[in-house]
Amino acid sequence: MHTLLFRSTNQQSPAANLREAFLQGLAPDRGLYFPEKFPKLTADEIASFASLPYHEIAFRVLSRYTEGVIPSDTLAAMCSSAYNFNIPLEKTYDRVHVMRLDQGPTASFKDFAAQMMARMSGHFLNETGKQLTILTATSGDTGAAVAHAFHNIPGVRVIVLFPFDEVSRSQRKMMTTLAQNVRTIAIDGKFDDCQAMVKRAFADPALQHLPLSSANSINIGRLLPQSVYYFYAASRIAKPGEPIVFSVPSGNFGDMMGAVVAGQMGLPIKKLIASVNSNDAFPRFLETGHYEKIVPSRNAVSNAMNVGHPSNLARLVAVYGGRMDETGKIHQMPDLAAMRRDLFSSSISDERTRETIREVWNKYELLLEAHGAVAWRGFLDWLEVEPLGNAPAVILETANPAKFPEEIEKTIGFSPDVPPAMEAMNQMPEDFDRMTADYEKFRDYLVTKHQS
Ligand SMILES: *Cc1c(COP(=O)(O)O)cnc(C)c1O
Repeated sequence: MHTLLFRSTNQQSPAANLREAFLQGLAPDRGLYFPEKFPKLTADEIASFASLPYHEIAFRVLSRYTEGVIPSDTLAAMCSSAYNFNIPLEKTYDRVHVMRLDQGPTASFKDFAAQMMARMSGHFLNETGKQLTILTATSGDTGAAVAHAFHNIPGVRVIVLFPFDEVSRSQRKMMTTLAQNVRTIAIDGKFDDCQAMVKRAFADPALQHLPLSSANSINIGRLLPQSVYYFYAASRIAKPGEPIVFSVPSGNFGDMMGAVVAGQMGLPIKKLIASVNSNDAFPRFLETGHYEKIVPSRNAVSNAMNVGHPSNLARLVAVYGGRMDETGKIHQMPDLAAMRRDLFSSSISDERTRETIREVWNKYELLLEAHGAVAWRGFLDWLEVEPLGNAPAVILETANPAKFPEEIEKTIGFSPDVPPAMEAMNQMPEDFDRMTADYEKFRDYLVTKHQS
């Protein structure tokens, strides 16, 4: 048996196994955990995925990381209970497809990671007998996915902070109708206020006795499950060994790093396109070799991608032999020529995003929302510089259009259909606390609620 080890991108902390890396989240040196060496799948193994259901592919991929840490039958059970929803691949023209990652319980691709993370947490906590409080600040999708996934997981309590005025009614309902071990607090403030309160709690000596953890995108447990759907897409569309093109709508670059992980494990990728909104730090870096964060981050319609400094770039840089610290400072340049060979990146304005939603609807009767539209447009931008030939291509749609009814209505003149699961949640009674953006009050809340 071989237990895989993870190292920090800052190269100071000792190596950790998956359990340790998972429970710590951030490495002690503030770097991000990443596999010391990528496990490889043979071409035959990857070819065999063509006849396997999604949860079985998830098991074959993830078991390479969990050996010695999670028993094989436990992992198999986790995969089949986590991934019981559809993953449609809709054909547009030639071999170009849209993969909808929006059929999970909270209708965004964040469900893929959150569902698996929750099960892993439950397993590790059960082993250690520990309790955990997961604190998360959200502007929408993450809070909903995390709250749903951790709902009723023994040993875990979830507290979600969200800005009352910045979250749509349907997004709010996905967090506030759960009860039991999930508490939501509506903050009279902005997302930045919520995030600042959560960060202060993690650093507060008065709360050191509480077992606090976060479920944010830097956790390795969130990244690995996001490599599976790339294998899945290729297994359904590409011939064995045939390189495939992916376009990924990117904010913190966790989704896109899932494709990089798949590539490192042996999936042949012709081009990986990181499509971003007006937060264009990465495409500029790829072009110029100079990295500059966008501060403050810019607001765009694809609001889940309003990230000025994508935290996962530290991992991407590491894959290409460089080193970037958590502040975005590059200590060692990655191999830019290799990055440019493998990757393409384009920044899409709100105007082009909306235009794309209209065009794709008119041309293919295919409904995209803003995040998927950014990915589509990034793909078109790439076609301007390189020929696709007859290669298969997959554009990722990461949220259900029904999450953004006003925006869709404004752009193409009708409201999207609401999936039954979302409709059911819309009908359920809400229960949440309300608070001003006052840290002292939040600290009291954490201390008293913990004791009760
Ligand atoms: C979070 C999110 C993204 C961005 O994913 P990253 O992993 O942060 O790049 C894209 N689309 C939607 C709908 C999201 O919720």
